[in-house]
Amino acid sequence: MGIKACPYCAEEIQEEAVICKHCKSSLKETDAPKEAGVTTAKSDKAFGAATGFFGGLGCGIWLIIFGLLISLTGIGAIIGIPLALAGLLMPFIAPVMGLAQVSGQCPHCTKHLVASSIKGAVTCKYCKKRVVIDKGKFVRVD
Ligand SMILES: [Zn+2]
Ligand SMILES: [Zn+2]
Repeated sequence: MGIKACPYCAEEIQEEAVICKHCKSSLKETDAPKEAGVTTAKSDKAFGAATGFFGGLGCGIWLIIFGLLISLTGIGAIIGIPLALAGLLMPFIAPVMGLAQVSGQCPHCTKHLVASSIKGAVTCKYCKKRVVIDKGKFVRVD
């Protein structure tokens, strides 16, 4: 039987004591209310940060499913396999594609154009002239 200090009056009491013999305080461990709801809030942040990635992933999964379904038809494998591969890469491609969008004036007619820089060159929908995309800008070629 050990001796401990009473948390209320600091007098020495038996370790097994239920009630302090000095101050008569109850030393029984009461069921402290568990702090519920504190741990659950944490996961929301990570979810928000991952939304961009999983947005692309969700899109990609559909491409994979669609691609695989086409592949099953046999002839469709020619289209289906690259489609499934595109789906796999979608989470990585999607953010890049957003950044690679070029917006600016047509060097021929000065009308506002928006195009994907992946293309390298576009035909202006207003003046029908060819415009090359160079370092994120529309450049005339003639
Ligand atoms: Zn006490
Ligand atoms: Zn133009």
